[in-house]
Amino acid sequence: MRYPLIISNWKANGSKTMIIDFIHKLQNNLNNNYACNIIIAPPIIYLDVIKQYLINKDIILGAQNVDIHISGSFTGEISANMLKDMGVLYTIIGHYERRIHHKENNEDIIKKFDILKKNHITPILCIGENKEEKIQNKTKTVCIQQINNIINTLGIEILKNSVIAYEPIWAIGSTSSANPNEVQTLHNFIRSYIAQQNIEIAETIHLLYGGSVNTNNAYELLRQKDIDGLLIGKASLDPKNLSEIIKITQKTKTRN
Ligand code: PEP
Repeated sequence: MRYPLIISNWKANGSKTMIIDFIHKLQNNLNNNYACNIIIAPPIIYLDVIKQYLINKDIILGAQNVDIHISGSFTGEISANMLKDMGVLYTIIGHYERRIHHKENNEDIIKKFDILKKNHITPILCIGENKEEKIQNKTKTVCIQQINNIINTLGIEILKNSVIAYEPIWAIGSTSSANPNEVQTLHNFIRSYIAQQNIEIAETIHLLYGGSVNTNNAYELLRQKDIDGLLIGKASLDPKNLSEIIKITQKTKTRN
């Protein structure tokens, strides 16, 4: 069984004061039996603050981005070996907000995937369709294209132990999340597609859902066999919500 992952993407939110309070509250709210790994991806400048206050080994550090270069004259960028140096084990790539606001393209995402793997950091590859593509019934095609983008350049083996987060663009930061049964069908389709190329690798991949997850919809999503965890934005900024979702994960996934 894949150990579930709960990922908290803070985007450009937080402050030193907020983080200290958040980490204390989160750790106080949790018991010792999570049945999942908890990954916090804060703005990179706060990684060390989080580290200072972490006493819980099940909480893992994540990042929201990485540069395509390893070092050199790239003002403002953070490289994979710097992330590794700071104890980051997971990094989000291909997020819709980076594609839109920072003009990241498929080529960048391939390079980021590759450089993370070479530095032993697990990529969290975001995929998903926009509203129009959903209406046109193109969800499967769009998601497979985004995965093929990686496979066709780097080979199927690169996907071993990776994380793919299905984040329909229309559901991110909105009020409606995707239908859990539809997500299950899609995840099953994606896993079968990868299994056709390599059955062992398909079993190692975590397929997460992200897009307006909250304490009300987490249970129905986590109940699905092929939803191996959640990528959460807004709701995870509140330690009470995040611990509630972790407790739901604990109950739901240990029962499977
Ligand atoms: C995200 O942006 O990764 C995300 C899932 O955001 P939200 O939960 O706020 O929709």
